[in-house]
Amino acid sequence: MKNDTSFAGMLVLSVLTLSLASAAKVAVELKDAQGKSVGSAFMYESDGMVIQLDLHNLPPGEHAIHIHQNPKCDAPDFKSAGPHFNPDNKKHGFENPEGHHAGDMQNFTVDANGKAKTQIVNRDVNWENDSHSIFSNGGTALVIHAKADDMKTDPAGNSGDRIACGVITKQ
Ligand code: ZN
Repeated sequence: MKNDTSFAGMLVLSVLTLSLASAAKVAVELKDAQGKSVGSAFMYESDGMVIQLDLHNLPPGEHAIHIHQNPKCDAPDFKSAGPHFNPDNKKHGFENPEGHHAGDMQNFTVDANGKAKTQIVNRDVNWENDSHSIFSNGGTALVIHAKADDMKTDPAGNSGDRIACGVITKQ
């Protein structure tokens, strides 16, 4: 019993430490083509931009996720989000010799129940006042695609339709 209590205490302490370390956080709500929420992403800086995903109602399987250049998510196709965030004028993909876009990121997996609770890290963006800031041009957008990113095909990794989108703006 005593051990249980101290374990609980340690948990509380780590949660507190975590929330202090990540005081500057941005919440992004993602919506699908029908305008329904599919969950949220929390973004904070800690050795790169950490993006915590807590998503639901998505098709199971591997999906691409990218940061796009415009803070716009007009359903149903989300084309208004524009191309991948690309302040260095590079080509798409981690495996592309001329790559990669600052907005490129690793794929993530949605489970059989349509949920995904995971985190990804983007080391090419920040929230300073420079060209790599996710708040450049008034913000950016987080976009989930129908398929996985092949990490090399310009301009979008052959990742298919944009199925969910959330605007990233200063809060
Ligand atoms: Zn890209």
